[in-house]
Amino acid sequence: MSKIAVFPGSFDPITVGHVDLVERALPLFDKIIVAVGVNNQKKTLYSLEKRLHWLEEVFQKDPKVEVGHFTGLTAHYAHSIGAGYLLRGLRNASDFDYEKTISQLNHIVGEGLETIFLISQPAYSHISSTIVREIIKGGGNAEPFLPVEVFRSMNGNS
Ligand code: ADP
Repeated sequence: MSKIAVFPGSFDPITVGHVDLVERALPLFDKIIVAVGVNNQKKTLYSLEKRLHWLEEVFQKDPKVEVGHFTGLTAHYAHSIGAGYLLRGLRNASDFDYEKTISQLNHIVGEGLETIFLISQPAYSHISSTIVREIIKGGGNAEPFLPVEVFRSMNGNS
């Protein structure tokens, strides 16, 4: 049976931290679906179309990575596409506290759905989409935190 993982998130926008996590997880799975969870209550900086477009661009060279999006429960989405695993990253203790509860809930709601955690590399553990959005809104240079395709596109070069 093929091992399929969903990497759910807002990806508003995708950062080099997310990309590193997916690349490190690739040897563990046959396929990774990087999926934008759509929450209409939550205001995002970038549109769903833009976030999906960037994910497609960033992962187009990885044949084992697909891009998707969903509304509703992550566990239901995983089930609907035959994924037995969720992939999440842990940067610090507050990620752990939050993720622990969610993964326990997903294990119940997802009837055995397992969450696989990778600890972020030290070089990426300070990077979050929230910080990147603040830098962008403040007119700073977010280039060090963004995949090159995304940085170029934000600056009108693609
Ligand atoms: P959410 O909307 O769930 O916060 P994010 O897009 O911020 O989604 O993050 C999705 C996942 O990526 C989470 O598991 C988060 O811990 C992980 N992640 C985000 N940034 C990094 C990073 N710099 N290094 C490792 N994992 C990360």
